[in-house]
Amino acid sequence: MKLYNSKINQIEAFEPIESGKVSMYVCGPTVYNQAHIGNARPIVVFDLLRRVLVAGGYEVMMVSNFTDVDDRIIQKAKEENVPESVITERYIDAYNKVRTGLHAEGINATPRVTETMDGIIAFIENLVAQDFAYEVNGDVYFRVHKIKDYGEISSQNIDDLLVGARIEANTAKENPLDFALWKNTDDDGIKWDSPWGRGRPGWHTECVVMINDEFKMELIDIHGGGQDLKFPHHENESAQSKALHNHDLANYWVHNAMLNLDGVKMSKSLGNVMWAQDYIDALGSNLTRWLLLSTHYRLVLNMTDELIEQARTELTKVSQAYSKAVITLQREQAEIGHVFDAETYTSFMAALNDDLNVANANVFLFETVKRLNQLLRIKDVDVEAVSQLVVTMEMMLNVLGIVLERVVLTDADRATFDAWEQAKLDKDFERADVYRKTLSEKGLI
Ligand SMILES: [Zn+2]
Repeated sequence: MKLYNSKINQIEAFEPIESGKVSMYVCGPTVYNQAHIGNARPIVVFDLLRRVLVAGGYEVMMVSNFTDVDDRIIQKAKEENVPESVITERYIDAYNKVRTGLHAEGINATPRVTETMDGIIAFIENLVAQDFAYEVNGDVYFRVHKIKDYGEISSQNIDDLLVGARIEANTAKENPLDFALWKNTDDDGIKWDSPWGRGRPGWHTECVVMINDEFKMELIDIHGGGQDLKFPHHENESAQSKALHNHDLANYWVHNAMLNLDGVKMSKSLGNVMWAQDYIDALGSNLTRWLLLSTHYRLVLNMTDELIEQARTELTKVSQAYSKAVITLQREQAEIGHVFDAETYTSFMAALNDDLNVANANVFLFETVKRLNQLLRIKDVDVEAVSQLVVTMEMMLNVLGIVLERVVLTDADRATFDAWEQAKLDKDFERADVYRKTLSEKGLI
């Protein structure tokens, strides 16, 4: 496996910490709203990475959190006059539904901030005790200048960051780059007792604590997320790990690029936000997933009607060949075996193992579709060859997370196929047309 590591801005060979095992963490959503289609991209990208690693023989542990403490959640709860938990439960459910809808359910743990508070407070206490953080009036800040290679994850240096830093009014921070670990508050939102008074944690500590908790490790293999999380979120996660543990949080930082709609960035102010669930409802799970994988994960995905149509055409080509083959084998009373075309599958996997090159992998999928269609056009069908390609296709689709059902013909279906064939032989086209219609209505041709 080769992966692009944001830390060095290069593709490098993946070497797990523990042979045969992979620990992977992906920052999850702040649950104050539905997931938009841009949020769906990391879901699919990192699920693909998980599937490719599993197909490569690795045992993968994958964790993704829910940020269920945030000012936007409190705001929404206030607007609806309900407890924060009503809001967070609603959007966690919605997010899980999107995940299922995208065939991305293989996550081992989904920790929440509300359930991690003791660990978060203890972690911040530790940073303060070791002088990496300081308290001012009940707020706690991280001392950025104490981390030598701060800026490593987002490829920036402290001097440049300082030039660009917003000088906040009324701040008690020692340095404009210092970030909040704990915020003291007396508002009526949810809050916790801490050594610094009642308040809430900043956003950047939770993932570090959850990683240490869930994996029982201070260093994991892969940390993922959207490009927009590189700075400050991932930089600050990494800085806290370097402070307490003297090393980074992950060996490979992997980021997916953003998603545009018709060339325009999605934003609330532009009013062009599209929900992931609406895509899944309108296009179906397979097509939405195919669409989200249609552009390499490190390139901006520009969602257009043309792209959707192209994805639909490609997926239809695949699914039609697949079901035609499955039906043909059943009509020939042949079983689908276990033998597959090792050469094709190996080439397919090699492309995916090259930093998830789906486009190159799909060359082998479409080559298989073509070969299958050729075999299916021959009168005396070679059932063994067809079965082999069907199995190969299923293996490839499984890695891509595309789920096609094996159609099961009933006796009546079989009889209709036979009658259709006979009518065509008899040149009774009227009768043939009736059978064709029946089969077509059942989605069998
Ligand atoms: Zn995070």
